[in-house]
Amino acid sequence: MSGARDSTAEKTRTLASGAAPLASSPAGVRRWTFPVGLLACNCSIVAAAHGPECVVIDPGDGDQRSGDGVETILRVVREHQLRVVAIAITHAHIDHIGAAARLKRLTGAPVLLQPRDQVIYAALPEQAAWIGIPLPSSTPIDGALREGEPVKIGSLQFDVLETPGHTPGSTCLLLPGENLLFAGDTLFAGSIGRTDLPGGDPAQIVRSVHSKILTLPDSTLVVPGHGDETSVGRERETNPFLTGRHAQFR
Ligand SMILES: [Zn+2]
Repeated sequence: MSGARDSTAEKTRTLASGAAPLASSPAGVRRWTFPVGLLACNCSIVAAAHGPECVVIDPGDGDQRSGDGVETILRVVREHQLRVVAIAITHAHIDHIGAAARLKRLTGAPVLLQPRDQVIYAALPEQAAWIGIPLPSSTPIDGALREGEPVKIGSLQFDVLETPGHTPGSTCLLLPGENLLFAGDTLFAGSIGRTDLPGGDPAQIVRSVHSKILTLPDSTLVVPGHGDETSVGRERETNPFLTGRHAQFR
C-alpha cells in the first residue's frame, strides 16, 4: 500500500520543497512536511486541527547557504498563525538537529532530544566537517524525549518510541489517534537507517523496528527522516531489511 492511498495520508498534506504551504486539512491534524538542507532531511510541522500550537520535528542542518529550512518553517508558521511550542529532534545527526539552535532563538521554543544522543550532539563540529558545512550554533537541550512521557502539543499527544540503533538515542514520534509515525532515520521506504556512524548498532536497529514499529497497525503512515512516505504494512511486506532478504539483518 502506498502512502498516498493511506487513509491518514488523505487527512494530511505534504509540502514539496519550495512549494507554497498548503491549506489546513479538515481532519484531526495539520501537517506540513518538506525536505530541508544539504541531505534533504524531512522536516515536519504538526498541529492539531484547531489551535495555534505546533511542533517542529527535525528542522534541518542549519546551513543557511543551502536554503535553510528555518525560513520555510517560519513562513508556514506565519501564514497559518501557528506558535512553535516545541522543537523535537528524532536524533542528533546534524542534518536533523543543526538548525535547532537558530529555530529556538527565533521562536523561543524548547528543544527536545532523547538524552542518549547528547554525545552525538556534542560531536556537532565533527559532523559538520564530515558533510562539509559550516558549524551551526548549538544549544543546551531543554527537555528529554522519553518513552512513557508523551509530548503534548495543543490537543495532540505524541507517544515517544525509543528506537536505538541508527544512533543510541534515536526516537520515533507517534500520533496513535491519527495512525501517524515520524520515524526519523530508523525506518525508510524500502530501507532502514545506516548503522556505520558512531553509536550505530545494526542488530539494535532491527530489534527496534520489529519491537516498536512493526507492532503498529499496517495502516500507520510512516514519515521517514528522508525520502518518500510509506506505511507500516508496506514495509512489513516489502522492506528487504525486514523480510530477511538481506541476510545480515535477519
Ligand atoms: Zn541520521
